[in-house]
Amino acid sequence: MTVAISIPGALRQRMGGKEEFFTQARTVREAINSLIKEYPQLREYLFSDNDRLRNFINLYVNDEDIRTTGGLDTRLKDGDIIIIVPSIAGGSSGDLSTKEMMRYDRHLIMPEVGFEGQKRLKSSSVLVVGVGGLGTPASTYLAAAGIGRIGLIDFDRVEMSNLHRQVLYTEEDIGRPKVEVAKVRLLTVNPNVHVDSYQTKLDSTNALKILNDYDVILDGTDNFPTRYLVNDASVLLKKPVVHASIFRFEGQVTVFLPTKGPCYRCLYPEPPPPGLVPTCAEGGVFGVLPSVIGSIQAIETIKLVLGIGEPLIGRLLMFDALKMKFRELRLRRDESCPVCGSNPTIRDLIDYDEFCGVHSADRQDAQEIEVETLIQWLKEGRQLQVLDVREPWEYNISHIPNAKLIPLSELRSRINELDPEELIVAYCKNGGRSSVAVKYLSEHGFKQIKNLRGGIDLWAKLNRN
Ligand SMILES: [Zn+2]
Repeated sequence: MTVAISIPGALRQRMGGKEEFFTQARTVREAINSLIKEYPQLREYLFSDNDRLRNFINLYVNDEDIRTTGGLDTRLKDGDIIIIVPSIAGGSSGDLSTKEMMRYDRHLIMPEVGFEGQKRLKSSSVLVVGVGGLGTPASTYLAAAGIGRIGLIDFDRVEMSNLHRQVLYTEEDIGRPKVEVAKVRLLTVNPNVHVDSYQTKLDSTNALKILNDYDVILDGTDNFPTRYLVNDASVLLKKPVVHASIFRFEGQVTVFLPTKGPCYRCLYPEPPPPGLVPTCAEGGVFGVLPSVIGSIQAIETIKLVLGIGEPLIGRLLMFDALKMKFRELRLRRDESCPVCGSNPTIRDLIDYDEFCGVHSADRQDAQEIEVETLIQWLKEGRQLQVLDVREPWEYNISHIPNAKLIPLSELRSRINELDPEELIVAYCKNGGRSSVAVKYLSEHGFKQIKNLRGGIDLWAKLNRN
């Protein structure tokens, strides 16, 4: 019997635009089998692994649903038309619309993802903490891959110095909240995903509530208090964290899966004193580096959602862009870890600023002065010592006139070069390292020690205008 199969739009492109397929067949099964024989790439769409017709595919002979006429064994007459009708997702979550099937086509044909995997991505949720260098590629690929709900949390606004690596933003976005701009961009990449934006600082008061709403946490933060906060909250909530950090030409990535591997505190029980480890703002970061590291984070996140491959649990992947080398270190869970160990002492979130030695705002305010104040004091010829605590190579690029250079690392041994009675204004690149110097000196008998808010960066900006 000669019968025709009418091809739906979603499948047509896989058959070179063909709208109808003619064949000789006695049953629907024979007809579909000869279609697949001619176009093997259709099998994935029509049949599941156990060779059953997929739930979202309905077959009609003329205008009768074959479920009512004997299923695939429905007999055919000469001139019958078989119509393939894929479901077009309306409301039920997890289904894919015809348009989504086309969008995710290259995923659907991979057995490791397939239709079930793509639906799993669609029904999953990921929180991206920090939409900066790492959050940019990570969130873009998560959206493109079809993660159903993406949360973005960041309180920063776009700055000119972000643009050399945070390619979600353009010059026109300067001054706008990052999460707002990023949300619009991600929806342009893939309008099928839902984006939640939180323009706020993640802290102990909101972390559990926000993190609890997501399946996977992607940590792309740039400061220690938030890293410990994200870690502790995730351990308490038993959520996986895809963790990464970048500095200059180097990046690190790992996955923390509570109870299955170590956590951030197993690795680093204590944070370094503030100012000791320079941030990207102080040490710089190679602009393309985060695209590699953030993309690895997206890969690990998608693997976790799909449950495929070998996640980076208990392994720290290190990347050196200058040497173009990857290295891997084994990480071990610490049984005595205060948060994920066998007898945890941290059972609730703590004050992470205090834990990381970041000063309380009040105390910091009292010891800080504005650049304008320093300019005024210098103009008045006031008796004071300007102290630069950066490294010599930074000092050589530019410094405040007559500033004395004592790098933070040498402050302890060279403290007697300073007069404890004199008014001292300390500065660094943007106020981080100098705040440590101010704390140290005020604890060692210096009575009039001030930190220059905004550091030499702000000084240079104001002196240029
Ligand atoms: Zn731990």
